[in-house]
Order: sequence, then structure tokens, then C-alpha cells
Amino acid sequence: MKTIKKLIFTAVVLSALSACSEVKTEFAIAIHGGAGTILKTKMTDEVEAEYKAKLQEARDAGYLILKNGGTSQEAVVAAIQIMEASPLFNSGVGAVYTYEGEHELDASVMDGSNRQAGAVAGVKTVKSPIELAVAVMEKSEHVMLSGKGAEAFAVSQGMIPVDNKMFDTERRLKSLKRAKAKMQVSKNWSESEDFRFGTVGAVALDKNGNLFAGTSTGGMTAKRWGRVGDSPIIGAGTFADNKSCAVSATGHGEFFIRYNVASDICARVEYQHKSIIEAGDEVIHGVLLPVGGTGGVIIMDRNGNIHMPFNTSGMYRASKSSNGEESVAIFK
Ligand code: ASP
Repeated sequence: MKTIKKLIFTAVVLSALSACSEVKTEFAIAIHGGAGTILKTKMTDEVEAEYKAKLQEARDAGYLILKNGGTSQEAVVAAIQIMEASPLFNSGVGAVYTYEGEHELDASVMDGSNRQAGAVAGVKTVKSPIELAVAVMEKSEHVMLSGKGAEAFAVSQGMIPVDNKMFDTERRLKSLKRAKAKMQVSKNWSESEDFRFGTVGAVALDKNGNLFAGTSTGGMTAKRWGRVGDSPIIGAGTFADNKSCAVSATGHGEFFIRYNVASDICARVEYQHKSIIEAGDEVIHGVLLPVGGTGGVIIMDRNGNIHMPFNTSGMYRASKSSNGEESVAIFK
């Protein structure tokens, strides 16, 4: 009788253990395509489907890389490059216009395994700013390059310069006109989420347990005087450390810089032993919202858990984990 009980007990323990191993997240990816005033009532079914299809394509490209044993860096870059090439988002093609009617692109990456990072700000002739951010991380002794110097570095790395007009879209030109009209009548015009959203970003965990984060943007419509937002600032718009989490942000960059959003979330995880849900919600809803900072983040912890909090009406987002969970969403 005792032996039978022992056998049953062993069987129960074994099946519980195998159930646990089934839900373990070996690898995962989460992406965003910007946060802001994104209302279901203002979006046609076709446009919604178009966004969802592109998010899914970007997410799945990254996921496949992870599944095949690729690194989180490769997955993040692949997903972001698909969004940079799409006119739907404010990065690469589809980037917002500056006051002068050009596009100045910002991007950054961070490797959670060694805290290496690379960033570029205000580049006009680089087709894939995220690729250049990786080159800065890997091929230069610096973390951040800007403007003409960053463009010269891109050429030195074999990247062929492109005409700034390749990023043009009719839709963003209309936004510029609206922004300029608003500037005439309101000092606080830049607080409107309409003039910012569409930044893209990704975070991933690979089979080696390494986290990686990246963000790419055209910044803010009608920006002037070389304005740089949070997206290329390590710790503000992008952060990754295997000890805590990986974060990519989108929103009103000035707030994300001043509140050091990405690294604040990971610091809460590391030092206060908070979950990414607690840490992310505290910063996005508890810290940013009361001071007027709008936007959101995607967060992944070292176990591949994902949290995507935002305090706007919507955030383009998608995720997929090796434990079988997946999502594509836009609204609250
Ligand atoms: N954070 C970006 C910036 O301020 C804009 C955005 O995320 O939409 O440049």
C-alpha cells in the first residue's frame, strides 16, 4: 500500500514539474509602434487591420529568429527594421517632419548581457537608424553620435546615404501643417499627442537568457533647433540589463528624459524586487501621469514575462512567447 502511495506521489510531482517546464518562457519578443491618442472611433476597420498585420509581421520576424536560436539583438533589429520601412510608423519611412520640412531620425539599442549600448540622434541620410545604432555600439568606442558626424560614421561603415525625401509621406506632411497652424495660436501645442506618436521599439529574450532593447523614431512633429527626444537616450527611452529588465519607450520625450523612465522601471525591479507589472505601472501611471507625461513602454524581464503599460488611449503593440502566449493590440 505504502509503495502504491509513493508511486502516486511521485507521478503527481513529476507531472507538476513537467507542467512547470511547459510554461517556462525560453524566448520571447514584444514590440510597439507608438502610443498616443489612438481611438477606435477614429479608425476604420481597414486601417486597424493594416496596423495589426504590420505589427504581426514585425513581431513574427523577430520571433522566428529567436526560435531558430538567433540572438535577442538580431530579433529586435529585424522587428524594428520592418517597422522602419513601413509608412505606418514614425520611424524611417513615415517619420514626422521637422519645422523646416525635413526628417531627423533618432535610435538606440542596449544589450542586457553586458550593458553595451549605441545611439544616434538627428540623422537625415541613414535608411535604418537602428542599424546605425548597432554599429555605434559594436564598431565605435562611443555610445552616442549625432548629426553630420553620425552620418559620416555611417558612410565609414559602408552604409549608403539616402535622400531625406525617401522618408516623406503625405500624412505626416499634413501633420506638420496642422502643427504649424496650432503653434500660431497655442503655446502648449506640443503637448498634443497627435504630433508625436508612432515611434517603434522592441525588447526580446533569447535562448541564451540575454535581454536586448531597441527604439527608433522620427521624434516630434515640427521639432526645431536640433531637438532630441528620449528615444536615443539610454536610460530614458531604451534600457536593458539581464539583472532586471529590458524596456523600450514611446511618448512625450521631454518627460521620459526628465523622469529617466526606462532605467527607473528596471531599477525598481532590481533594487526593490518589484515585478515588471508593479514597476511599470508605478512609473507610467504613478509617476508620469500626475506630472502630465503621456506615453507607454514595453517591458520584458529576464524570465521572458512581458508587460506593456501606457497612459494614453492606445499603443500599437504585439508580443509572442515560447510558452504559447501571443497578442496584437492597439486600444486600451
Ligand atoms: N518619444 C518620442 C520623442 O519624444 C516620440 C514618440 O515616442 O512618439 O521623440
